[in-house]
Amino acid sequence: MDRSLYEKIIGDIRRKGDITPEQLEIILTDEDGENEEILFENARRVAETVFGREIYLRGLIEFSSFCKNDCYYCGIRRSNKNASRYRLREDEILACCDSGARLGFKTFVLQSGEDPSFSDEDICRIARRIKEAHPDCALTLSIGEKSRESYEAYYKAGADRYLLRHETANEGHYARLHPDSLSCKNRRRCLYDLRDIGYQVGCGIMVGSPGQTMDNIYEDIEFMRRLGPHMIGIGPFIPHRDTPFADEAMGSVSITLRLLAILRLLFPDVLLPATTALGTADGRGREKGILAGANVLMPNLSPPDVRSKYLLYDGKICTGEEAAECIRCLEKRIESIGYRISGSRGDHPDRSGNK
Ligand code: SF4
Repeated sequence: MDRSLYEKIIGDIRRKGDITPEQLEIILTDEDGENEEILFENARRVAETVFGREIYLRGLIEFSSFCKNDCYYCGIRRSNKNASRYRLREDEILACCDSGARLGFKTFVLQSGEDPSFSDEDICRIARRIKEAHPDCALTLSIGEKSRESYEAYYKAGADRYLLRHETANEGHYARLHPDSLSCKNRRRCLYDLRDIGYQVGCGIMVGSPGQTMDNIYEDIEFMRRLGPHMIGIGPFIPHRDTPFADEAMGSVSITLRLLAILRLLFPDVLLPATTALGTADGRGREKGILAGANVLMPNLSPPDVRSKYLLYDGKICTGEEAAECIRCLEKRIESIGYRISGSRGDHPDRSGNK
């Protein structure tokens, strides 16, 4: 596409904070690599205005690989008999936070499958213990769909943030990715409950998931505008060999990067991770993500001996190293592109360090 026309479209989106379906399609399908750089540069400038050249870190603790659900794309779905399952004990979770705090982390993300063996009381007790031990740190939960009452209890116990990818805002597409026991409607209900309770909320999608159309991506953007998330997690779909989607094609890294940049233009102050999936699909994916407007990285703080068991997709990176090694590697990577790691909790700009 003609460069000046492309620049006009990007300027339009940036100025209005809005995008039309036609503009989305043009940007995601344009074949001119030089135009892509115009998009990324604009996204970088927006991110820099809000966050400077600082990248926030979230220490990820994957504490259980058991899940009662059977999402078709997921390597730890309950029907995958080849998955090795593990659960961390409460003290092990606390120890992960302690070592993360020693490394300078100010946010812990507790993530798991939907594992019924952790009751609400267990989650609340763990949240309280983490906040007592590390009152200066933010606690994020990513443990799936729950009732409003459960979300309220976790919030009261100290959880600050909650990640729950909506996966797709289109009901038909949702049904292509999930069994009948899960619904788009309930997923949305969870996200609105979380937001109303006061959490900093993260939603997100996989780019290139089976059956995804351009219209679906536009619906996702519209949904995000209605929800007003504080974080948006997107990464390319990567198939897992023991799922019904084993033979599906991987999502495109280039489209993921372009969508990251578009989200940065539309949501200037949203927290936008350069995801592990992006780093798995492309050796420099996380650096490229930051250069397309992302401002968050989520290194793994789980004990190295369990990491290779939390395989949501094939080939996942960073499953062997110690957390300290991961940090050194990430530090070098982001310094090589002119950014630095922030020492702060990295709250959404709307929030001032506390809920
Ligand atoms: S995507 Fe989440 S809810 Fe679905 S099977 Fe995997 S861990 Fe469970």
